[in-house]
Amino acid sequence: MIFDVLTLFPEMIEEHCRYSILKRAIEKEVFSVNTINPRDFTLDKHKKVDDTPYGGGAGMVLMAQPYVDAYESVERCENSITIMLSPQGEPLNDKIVNELAQFDQIVMLCGHYEGFDERIREIIKPREISIGDFVLTGGELPALCLIDAVSRKIEGTLGKMESADEDSFSNGLIEYPHYTKPREYRGLKVPEVLLNGNHKEINEFRLQQSIERTKRKRPDLYKKFNTYD
Ligand code: SAM
Repeated sequence: MIFDVLTLFPEMIEEHCRYSILKRAIEKEVFSVNTINPRDFTLDKHKKVDDTPYGGGAGMVLMAQPYVDAYESVERCENSITIMLSPQGEPLNDKIVNELAQFDQIVMLCGHYEGFDERIREIIKPREISIGDFVLTGGELPALCLIDAVSRKIEGTLGKMESADEDSFSNGLIEYPHYTKPREYRGLKVPEVLLNGNHKEINEFRLQQSIERTKRKRPDLYKKFNTYD
């Protein structure tokens, strides 16, 4: 998988990829992350990438030319998808993450300020994705969320110890509670069933906990789970 990120702040993307699981996976060449800065594609001697909105109003709008030229400079393979990070897009969820993990390349457009000149959408025709119904200052954090979530679904990113199979949402439920040493902390004990080594009982306990938690914390998910079941 190749992640190509169009951003005015490439360091934000590069810095995050220097840590922990992502760093290891990049070193193992499980996937790669490239940044492309639209500022390098301006025809303007001041390297201007934004301007005031036609019709008036607050904020600066990202100009079409540097973004479109930067996008067209990216070599795209056959199994590639282009995503625009936008609060107006479809809300990201585990199903979309799984879908995106099937591609060989994801090109991402990060906005900033007031957002994109509409012609960027019209020319590039990206799939628009939002990370939630709130507005951030830029698309870099959403792009990183997407890279992080998608990369966890690619074989080789997580070690055996960090398997994604049992994570929340993978089976339509949120995950069961975890415990580690010591057996007792401030009077709170680890449930006995987790200590007896009986894997059938442990699995049943965990499934029950998952169901109970989903019912309590995410009734919307539980309703769907119950319908499919
Ligand atoms: N004026 C725009 C609107 O109301 O739709 C918001 C622009 S926002 C301040 C600047 C950029 O941040 C957006 O172009 C987008 O790339 C990114 N962004 C902000 N919130 C986001 C979200 N919830 N999901 C994905 N991207 C987001």
